[in-house]
Amino acid sequence: MLILMNSDHTKAELEGVLRKIRAMKLKPHVIPGAQSVAVGITGNAGALDPREFVGLPGVKDAVPVTKPYKLSGRDFKHADTIVKIGPYELGGKGFLVIAGPCAVESEEQVFRIARKVKAAGAQLLRGGAFKPRTSPYAFQGLGIEGLKLLAAAGKEVGMPIVTEVLDQRTLEDVAAFADVLQVGARNMQNFALLKDLAKVKKPVMLKRGMSATLDEWLMSAEYLLSEGNSRVFLCERGVRTFSDHARNTLDLNVVPAVKELSHLPIIVDPSHATGARSRVAPMARAAAAAGAHGLMIEVHDRPREALCDGAQALPPEDFAALMKDLGKITAAVGHEMTPQRKVR
Ligand code: PEP
Ligand code: MN
Repeated sequence: MLILMNSDHTKAELEGVLRKIRAMKLKPHVIPGAQSVAVGITGNAGALDPREFVGLPGVKDAVPVTKPYKLSGRDFKHADTIVKIGPYELGGKGFLVIAGPCAVESEEQVFRIARKVKAAGAQLLRGGAFKPRTSPYAFQGLGIEGLKLLAAAGKEVGMPIVTEVLDQRTLEDVAAFADVLQVGARNMQNFALLKDLAKVKKPVMLKRGMSATLDEWLMSAEYLLSEGNSRVFLCERGVRTFSDHARNTLDLNVVPAVKELSHLPIIVDPSHATGARSRVAPMARAAAAAGAHGLMIEVHDRPREALCDGAQALPPEDFAALMKDLGKITAAVGHEMTPQRKVR
């Protein structure tokens, strides 16, 4: 249920509405708008009767919200959410690029690649320290050591860092270093992890699960929003389909769909979506054209030596060329490549 207040409502009238909602053992969410204020309600098991609210002083209307997700939906909040990451803003008209290796492998490797993606124009640095690998025998990441190296590289080149949080056990460590906590595809429905992440005062990048529908994805975002973390953005990384010519099927349809249904920013990861270096740039360009708010791209200067995902890593030169194309494409669809800014 969404309660729309009159544009000239008083503070006391708004308080009255909030009191009524709390008295019903439900949770009110005050949503400031351009014209007036709305109040969203969560916590109800079944549909609420609008008549409970329409007669209250200061209330203009009460509209049922039929979607299972509420706080992540546009019905609840019309304006685009802008997620602040260091000196950057993700969402709205800006466009941001997260780039770096799949995994942090060594001090030399992460510093080398960080300098190259920075020189090419990327704003944020990625690198996995805790890696979710299909095989238990594959490289699992450098763990805390990897976090420290990524943070040091990010500090040196002046880039906020994005890294995956695999589980609740390591959440505190990852949160201490990361500027953005990445929830991987395999963890999109790890609700216990999401509940704990909601309490962290840092932005969360929620990747789409391999077989998750848009509703399921937004419900996972709802876990973060409803428990107190509104600094959330989505990342489409391809889904599992019958199609077997690529690692995954990149669902670019979901970009305009998310923008219609949700106020949360959405970026695209063409690296894990395609799994093949030759296809990353074309799909990155397509994602920018489809209206994504940004991209996440894996870059490696020695892909043959990479301990993880070498086949999909772009060499730094190709990444730099792609960044130039992206400047033109984003401008053509009303977005703007964000200039690099100084990180404090
Ligand atoms: C990653 O971005 O490092 C990653 C493991 O991606 P995904 O969770 O989308 O597979
Ligand atoms: Mn990877």
